[in-house]
Amino acid sequence: MTTHAPQATQSVTLPASLDEAVAALGAMPAAVPVAGGTDLMSAVNKGLLRPSGLVGLGRISELRGWHYQDGHALLGAGLTHARMGRPDFAALIPALAASARAAGPPQIRNAGTLGGNIATAAPTGDALPVLAALEAELVIAGPGGARREIPVSHLLAGRDMLEPAELIGFVRVPLLHAPQVFLKATGRTGPGRATASVAIVLDPARRGVRCAVGAIAPMPLRPLEAERWIASLIDWDGERGLAPDALAAFGEYVAAACIPDQPPSDGGEAVPLPPAVLHLRRTVAALARRALGRALS
Ligand SMILES: Cc1cc2nc3c(=O)[nH]c(=O)nc-3n(C[C@H](O)[C@H](O)[C@H](O)COP(=O)(O)OP(=O)(O)OC[C@H]3O[C@@H](n4cnc5c(N)ncnc54)[C@H](O)[C@@H]3O)c2cc1C
Repeated sequence: MTTHAPQATQSVTLPASLDEAVAALGAMPAAVPVAGGTDLMSAVNKGLLRPSGLVGLGRISELRGWHYQDGHALLGAGLTHARMGRPDFAALIPALAASARAAGPPQIRNAGTLGGNIATAAPTGDALPVLAALEAELVIAGPGGARREIPVSHLLAGRDMLEPAELIGFVRVPLLHAPQVFLKATGRTGPGRATASVAIVLDPARRGVRCAVGAIAPMPLRPLEAERWIASLIDWDGERGLAPDALAAFGEYVAAACIPDQPPSDGGEAVPLPPAVLHLRRTVAALARRALGRALS
């Protein structure tokens, strides 16, 4: 269906399937996809973007749910934060549900989608550290029914940009059946963008702890050495608890890996971190310690 809107945008197309949406983008190279519009329309309203056409993804029902495949969930890119925050989804992928519940005020959660969060790739995107810790893959839809898969980290790093007529169709997430935690600091009470966030995912089958820190760098950071160190301390066949000093040391390890000390000055003296950076480092340490403590409790 094509309607004509006044002013800057010439046409709005509302396809009913993923392949139709890809075909519409191919036919209108200057058009952009829009899902919930929470990021895109604020860019339009600020005058940062004047798309000559929009391809709306809101009527594509295959993108609004999920299905199971080989021990994974294939999440439609059109899943809203509100949908992911519900209990049935939280039972499947607890950390993604927690990040969805933390993503902005209710009107944003009702409209904003998983695919939009990924494509915008803002450092403060709440889903992104969770997807990094889960080592999620993206299923990209291209012309002629083509599908290709890439790690989400490649898209966030800009190493594998989407072609103009490609769309994020699905996000493949492993179902780990183990505790996962997402925590976010906003520097204010009530909903707000993250100043720092931490996702912790336990993977008992691989005896692994996966951690990603969001909002403090252009893309989520994985403190791999800290992950391996803490995983080696956990009694995977027993209680899985850790002493408070091990949790605290993990928090410090994660924070120092993500926000390293400054190199010594020419005179060999340690250069102290600026107070705001030190504060951020303490925030990351506290989030990582608490998140792991909750995952293991
Ligand atoms: C007031 C406010 C508060 C917010 N607070 C938070 C917050 O706390 N945490 C947070 O994470 N985010 C927050 N956001 C950002 C935003 O809501 C999320 O990033 C949301 O998930 C974007 O999804 P959307 O469907 O609205 O994307 P849209 O605005 O529709 O699209 C965003 C971008 O993604 C592209 N796109 C959309 N879907 C696809 C697809 N399937 N394939 C390829 N490209 C696609 C669009 O072309 C566009 O470039 C906030 C936004 C506002 C306005």
